[in-house]
Amino acid sequence: MPAAAGPAGPAGPPALTDAGLPALLAERGVPGLVDLHTHFMPANVLAKVWAFFDEAGARTGRPWPITYRTDEAERLATLRSLGVTAFAPLAYPHRPGMARWLNEWLREFAARTPDAVPTATFYPEIDAPQYVEEAIEAGLRCVKVHVQVGGFDPRDPLLDDVWGLLAQAGVPVVTHCGDGPNRGAYTGLGIFEEVLARHPDLVAVLAHAGLPDYVAALDLVHRYPGVHLDTTMVGTAFTQAFAPLPADWPARLVDVADRVVLGTDFPNIPHPYAEQVAAVVGWADADPRLGDPFLRAVLHDTGARLLGR
Ligand SMILES: [Zn+2]
Repeated sequence: MPAAAGPAGPAGPPALTDAGLPALLAERGVPGLVDLHTHFMPANVLAKVWAFFDEAGARTGRPWPITYRTDEAERLATLRSLGVTAFAPLAYPHRPGMARWLNEWLREFAARTPDAVPTATFYPEIDAPQYVEEAIEAGLRCVKVHVQVGGFDPRDPLLDDVWGLLAQAGVPVVTHCGDGPNRGAYTGLGIFEEVLARHPDLVAVLAHAGLPDYVAALDLVHRYPGVHLDTTMVGTAFTQAFAPLPADWPARLVDVADRVVLGTDFPNIPHPYAEQVAAVVGWADADPRLGDPFLRAVLHDTGARLLGR
């Protein structure tokens, strides 16, 4: 795989860099980036996440260097310099008793960060419906659920009311429920589909486009009106190495062009932010039925619609 972002080859355009992003957006008529999948969390939690990625490299043989390992103020300045005008800061618990505290931090973070929407997370526990309802009343615009890290069953009866509340409120739920990059006890799109079958109006955003089961994820988009795919790490050199997209991926997006939304995993990514945008540009340019309208929808419009921005 090429080390630089963007289409490679002697006749191709120059690789897209972070510094070149604002110019690309202006050229392609994209009014700004709306990133539905970033991570902001309390400093001690983020330090543990970064330590996990550091160890993951040694454990899996796939090094995962964090490209944007800087303090919070600098990370926010970086996002703005890239052309990001709105984003969802996501956090998630790995054990019970943690979500309510994370949600308090997220509420405070959104209150002091005008381009961040209010977000929350949950875990199967007795007070989950209560704190999710409180978050909805406080203006919640996006939720993160991490089935693999949380190690819980999304079909847990303790969560039935939570899914119902979120479906009724129409709040997008970014759900990491695919089998990649790591399988969990309750990962797999087949398991999550049982949640969708019970709550067919749920606005579920399948994180990483369901990686590695992209085709099954597209199938859910076709069958449930609220299901979307986020682009997080999809089509980058890192994931193409172990979970490559089908060769006809751009053609498969034609019928679902308004259900694909930019996500990146910023700042916890092993590549420049521009590499994610370059992947989307590559899909847009690979099929004349996609092109600039698709690019604008993915990078801006669909995220703005989902986040209410
Ligand atoms: Zn993520």
